[in-house]
Amino acid sequence: MINSPHRRFNALTGEWVLNSPHRAKRPWLGQVEKTPPESLPAYDPTCYLCPRNERAGGVTNPDYSGTFVFNNDFAALLPDPSEEAASTHPLLVSAPERGSCRVVCFSPRHDLTLPELDLPAIEAVIATWTRESADLAAQDFIRYVQVFENKGAMMGCSNPHPHSQLWAQSQLPNEIVKELARQAEYYSQHGRPLLTDYVQEELRLQERILFSNDHFTALVPFWAVWPFETMVIAHRATQSLSDLSASEVSALAEAFKQVTTRYDNLFEISFPYSMGFHQAPADGEAHPEWVLHAHFYPPLLRSATVRKFMVGYEMLAMPQRDITPEVAADRLRSVSAVHYKQRGM
Ligand SMILES: [Zn+2]
Ligand SMILES: [Zn+2]
Repeated sequence: MINSPHRRFNALTGEWVLNSPHRAKRPWLGQVEKTPPESLPAYDPTCYLCPRNERAGGVTNPDYSGTFVFNNDFAALLPDPSEEAASTHPLLVSAPERGSCRVVCFSPRHDLTLPELDLPAIEAVIATWTRESADLAAQDFIRYVQVFENKGAMMGCSNPHPHSQLWAQSQLPNEIVKELARQAEYYSQHGRPLLTDYVQEELRLQERILFSNDHFTALVPFWAVWPFETMVIAHRATQSLSDLSASEVSALAEAFKQVTTRYDNLFEISFPYSMGFHQAPADGEAHPEWVLHAHFYPPLLRSATVRKFMVGYEMLAMPQRDITPEVAADRLRSVSAVHYKQRGM
């Protein structure tokens, strides 16, 4: 029995599963109500992410005023997992996985989600993701840093206080292995990054674009799986958040505000999603094939409560969708770019 973080190889599919058996009991504040509460307090004395409150393990949060970062109290990955004897059978392959997990609170405000923050505050969140990514990537055993946000109880978010996470690890996770292979293959064939060619063609077609500025484009990808899935893609072949100039960070903040505001306006609720950046591996290699981008995967389909399930055929065969990406893009374009809670303000 292995009791520390490790990966197990799926001999059937060739992909890996991260196991974190040490992570026994985590606090769970989500899934209390069927629909999100109409309004949250600016400060919640029972929230372990609010300023001045106590977290698990007795640590007290500082009286922070901007973003706030701490090491995850229930990290799925640890810097030094114990090396334990595993099976030697070729079909039962596992390997210890080293890593670190951090939490990034967007602001002291318990009630302000990403689209409700002003642009300088979103830029501050991006600056924090950038600094923490670079700090984690600088550790010699780290080869990949995943920045992500789970928003809403529907996406398994354990606390409504707006926050995100960074998981850094010593091996490339499945999604990165796949995207790296596709981008490397395209680059070797064409001498240009796949995603810069893709964005150019989408900008020419104008069928799936939500928003575009000088440095970033937000669109519903041609191959989208989730009903209102979007990508935010850099125009320049930047590999990581650290490569962005100040004006590119501002442009990224604007694109994020556009996407998340339109999401909330779609059903006039705080729209749940999982969002994350895909940065190039932090493996010390140059990655000219890679283009920095973010994925947004929202589960909702028709209303605040009707969600898309990935079950049956999707689990066993392949993803399937009814609403086309073009219709989804049209709907997201047709709603206001001003947040419904901030209209008339
Ligand atoms: Zn809070
Ligand atoms: Zn990606």
